[in-house]
Amino acid sequence: MAFALILSVAATDVVALDVPTPPRRPASSRKEPTPEAKPPSNGQPLQAATEPREDCMAKLREAGVEFEPAQAPAGDLDGCAIDAPVRVAAITVDKRRVALNGKPMLSCAFALKFSDFVQHLLAPLAVGTLDASLVAIESGPGYQCRGRNQNAEAKLSAHAKGLALDVGAFVISDGRKIAVDAQPDRQSSAYVNTLRTAACGWFTTVLGPGSDPYHVSHLHFDIERHGSNGGYRICQ
Ligand SMILES: [Zn+2]
Repeated sequence: MAFALILSVAATDVVALDVPTPPRRPASSRKEPTPEAKPPSNGQPLQAATEPREDCMAKLREAGVEFEPAQAPAGDLDGCAIDAPVRVAAITVDKRRVALNGKPMLSCAFALKFSDFVQHLLAPLAVGTLDASLVAIESGPGYQCRGRNQNAEAKLSAHAKGLALDVGAFVISDGRKIAVDAQPDRQSSAYVNTLRTAACGWFTTVLGPGSDPYHVSHLHFDIERHGSNGGYRICQ
């Protein structure tokens, strides 16, 4: 076990950033976990959402994520709120940097989930199917205070809680740019189709071209809880 601990500390040293301590929110607006808000024992998507922000950000640093604590802008709609917001610049995978070109603002819990998806699926799948490395992901802004499908009258989008990210394309080390809606070759199509199917193991909602008119050009991933036990998935 001592050996494993040393490895873990060393890995942390490599990726640790000099991140300034985030300003503390006023006590009146700080959300402390209540007994009712305890994460469900089987609720993977919400498990990290209710832990203290410092714990989540420590995990994010240990996971090799380049980020800075962020401040969400005030929104126009009631209910917009992002727990432990962070702005993510890149995710380290085997000492290689995978940039998030949109530098999205995400809830720390979602950032953890997405970084795990990149490290264990997107990056190795690129090596396996494209024979090259994933170097960047072209993403949307993440947090947006808006209703679903840009409709202010609709239920709040998972983006309004920082629990969602849209991805439009993947940039590969051999120069290929693989758009979600236009792949240059069969290998690239296999990459997009496979990651889209596998994504449902990480996220509770996966939408993309063919799902509806709002997702013709990008993949939408979120970890919003569906149903009473949080185990329900929407993968289209
Ligand atoms: Zn989206």
